[in-house]
Amino acid sequence: MTDRIGLYPGTFDPFTLGHADIMRRGAKLVDRLIIGVTTNPSKDPMFSHDERMAMVAGEVARLGLTNVEIKGFDALLMDVAEREGASMILRGLRAVADFEYEYQMAGMNQQLNAGIETVFLMADISLQPIASKLVKEIAFYGGDIARFVSPQVRELVVARVNQLGRKGDGR
Ligand code: ADP
Repeated sequence: MTDRIGLYPGTFDPFTLGHADIMRRGAKLVDRLIIGVTTNPSKDPMFSHDERMAMVAGEVARLGLTNVEIKGFDALLMDVAEREGASMILRGLRAVADFEYEYQMAGMNQQLNAGIETVFLMADISLQPIASKLVKEIAFYGGDIARFVSPQVRELVVARVNQLGRKGDGR
């Protein structure tokens, strides 16, 4: 029998405990889960593509997930899924705000390739509010992000903020 392969795409800038939860739960649904780290230059990421790849690798190791691998991509998601032999795209759903965008994207992706299903996992209630964008904002203003990311990621974010300079210091 052929392996069931899933693809979990994202920017992961930075990788949060919400991402980790979806990755951990998603890995149970498939034989192999590929974490697809997008280059996404339009989002002007805090971490480079290589840094985000390494960050995700650290999280996979931290969680001891043996059926998860990491791949970078800068192409149409459905082309990547097909190339990798994935039969499902995995996405996490937080609040209603995620729904409209995710629904539209899943619909368009289905028209591009009806053989690949998008599967949504509801965010864990306690991790629901976590968003990479807010983690960065909190860190830039010197807030503690320990409840939103792993200790390893926290260290990386704090180091980057120190390098770039905190906001709100000049008042
Ligand atoms: P993208 O730029 O593709 O949206 P993100 O890194 O922001 O990349 O998110 C990747 C996926 O992880 C998305 O499906 C998003 O909804 C999901 N996600 C983000 N934060 C959480 C969270 N706290 N809980 C569950 N899923 C989440």
